[in-house]
Amino acid sequence: MSSDCIFCKISQHELPADIVYEDDDLVAFNDIGPQAPTHVLIIPKTHIASVNELTEANCNVVSKLVLCAKTIANERGLAEPGYRLVMNCNAEGGQTVFHVHLHLLGGRQLKGLG
Ligand code: 5GP
Ligand code: ZN
Repeated sequence: MSSDCIFCKISQHELPADIVYEDDDLVAFNDIGPQAPTHVLIIPKTHIASVNELTEANCNVVSKLVLCAKTIANERGLAEPGYRLVMNCNAEGGQTVFHVHLHLLGGRQLKGLG
């Protein structure tokens, strides 16, 4: 837990969020500024600032984030039409919250990355 991290506070229920799934390892909640009909953020409960801080010791959680995204997408009928998973890293990658998170975007035609 990082005391000044908003996603740590959401995972500890110290800040409100529209949580759609939670277990011992991760929390999934609706993005406050959705870019698609489904825009869910899936985060580890452990504070990891960015992909740059992933190691052999802590990277198992990433597969859990992806499987959680897959399950939510499937529940929402997005598996067949498709969806996008995004993980931004640092400033030029577009990261604005420095706690690893996976974006699940779907429900509309998504265009190329840029
Ligand atoms: P990033 O740009 O770091 O990849 O993504 C951060 C995401 O977090 C953005 O899409 C932004 O809308 C979302 N976000 C930032 N602050 C909050 C918040 O307090 N609550 C929620 N639910 N989403 C947030
Ligand atoms: Zn954090």
